[in-house]
Amino acid sequence: MQRIHALPVLNERWDCQQCGICCRGAQVALNDEDLARLKEQRWEEHPDFQGVTTVQRTGWLSGDYHLAHRPDGSCVFLDADGLCQIHKEFGFEAKPWQCRVFPLTVVSSGERRHLTMRRACPTAAKGEGRSLEQHRDLVRLLDKQMSDAPSVAPELCRGVALPWPHLHAVCGALEKMMLQQDACLTTRIVRALVLCDKIVEAPPETWAAMSARELDCRLNEWSAAIGRQIQHVSSEAKPPGKTVAVVFRQVATAYLDFHKARYQRQSLWRRLRRFANQFALMSSTGQLPDLGCDFPDGDLQSLERPLGELAPELQSILDRFFVSMTVSQYYRAYGRRHWSLVDAFRGMAISYPVILWLLRWSVGTNPPTVDRLIDLVVLADRAQSAPSFAGPRFRHNVATLVANGDLQRLVCWYGR
Ligand code: SF4
Repeated sequence: MQRIHALPVLNERWDCQQCGICCRGAQVALNDEDLARLKEQRWEEHPDFQGVTTVQRTGWLSGDYHLAHRPDGSCVFLDADGLCQIHKEFGFEAKPWQCRVFPLTVVSSGERRHLTMRRACPTAAKGEGRSLEQHRDLVRLLDKQMSDAPSVAPELCRGVALPWPHLHAVCGALEKMMLQQDACLTTRIVRALVLCDKIVEAPPETWAAMSARELDCRLNEWSAAIGRQIQHVSSEAKPPGKTVAVVFRQVATAYLDFHKARYQRQSLWRRLRRFANQFALMSSTGQLPDLGCDFPDGDLQSLERPLGELAPELQSILDRFFVSMTVSQYYRAYGRRHWSLVDAFRGMAISYPVILWLLRWSVGTNPPTVDRLIDLVVLADRAQSAPSFAGPRFRHNVATLVANGDLQRLVCWYGR
C-alpha cells in the first residue's frame, strides 16, 4: 500500500450487492494471472459456453486481452439473473482482478497515486456497507497491479505545459474549494469554475515565471478573493439562454445512454424512435418525449422549476460524488488524460446541472428520492469513463457551455 499516497477524505463504504451494473458496458482488462485462471476454469467445456468467445484481444496488433461482451454490451459471464458465473461456480477469488477490486480505482498524478471509488457502483454512491479499512486486502491487490511508471503531465490549460509540482498546486486549490465548509455544493462548484476561468485568463508567461510555491500562494489569494465575492449563488440564479439550453439538453440526454433502463436490449424500432425523440427534444418546448428511461410524463418547462433545498441524505450523495472526484482527480482519468486540467474539471462540473435536470425529469411532480438520485449518479460516473465523453463532440459542447460563463449559470440555475 505504500505507493498509494492519498486516500479519500470521506468515510468511504461499499459492499458488492451483485447488482451486475458494473458488468455492463465496461471493458475488463485481463492480466496473465487472470488469463491462466480462466484457462483452468475450462469454460469451453461448460454447456452454456459452447462456441462462445470468452476472451478477446484488445486490438489487432495488441498483446492485451479483455473479457468478451454479449451483443447487449454485458460481460459474457453475466447470467440471465444478473449474477457472475465465475463467482457462482468458483467463488470471488476466481474472478479477474479488475472485477474483484471494483469500485476501487487509482488515478496517477506523476509519482502520486490517488485511491478513489467509482460511483458506478450504487452502494458506493450511497456510501453503504463495510469501510475502506475492512476492504484493505483489495487496496493491496490494486496497489500490486499498478504500474510504477510516472504518468504524463496534462497541460494546465490550452497551450500551458507545467511540471507536476505546479499542477499539484492547482489540483490542491480546486480540492480546497470543494472542501470549504462555509458554502453549499452549488456555490463551491461555481467558485471552483471561477478559479478555472481566472487560470485560463492569466497570460501564459505568468505560470512559467513562478515556482510551485509562488503559484500556490497566488492560487490561495485568488481563492480567498473568490470566496469573499461569491456567497450564495442560488438566490441570484438566471435561466440559460436559448442556444445554451439546446446544447445543454443535447449533453444531458447523451448521459441517458448509461441509464440502467437501457441495459435491456431494445428493438431496432424502439431505438430509432428514441433517437428521433432525443433529436426532437433539442427544439421542443412542449411535452417531454419517451427516451426509454421510464421517466414520468411532463413538459419541458417543468424541468426549470426550483427543487429547493435537497434532503440531507440526497445532498450527501451529491457531495460525496463531486468532492471525491475532485480530491482524487478522477475528473482527469480515463479518456480525459489528454485534456488540460482545467477542461477536465469543467467536463466533470457539467455533470452537476445534468444530474439535477434529470432528477427533476425522473421524479415528475414528486419529491426527489434517494433511489432516483443514485440511478443518476451511477450514470454520471459511467459517462465520466466513456470514450464518447472524452471525444471531440463532448469537448466542443464543454467549450460552448463554458463560453460567457454559461456553465456557472447552469450550475446555479439547476442547483437551486
Ligand atoms: S467476470 Fe463476473 S464480475 Fe467480472 S464483469 Fe464479468 S460478470 Fe461481472
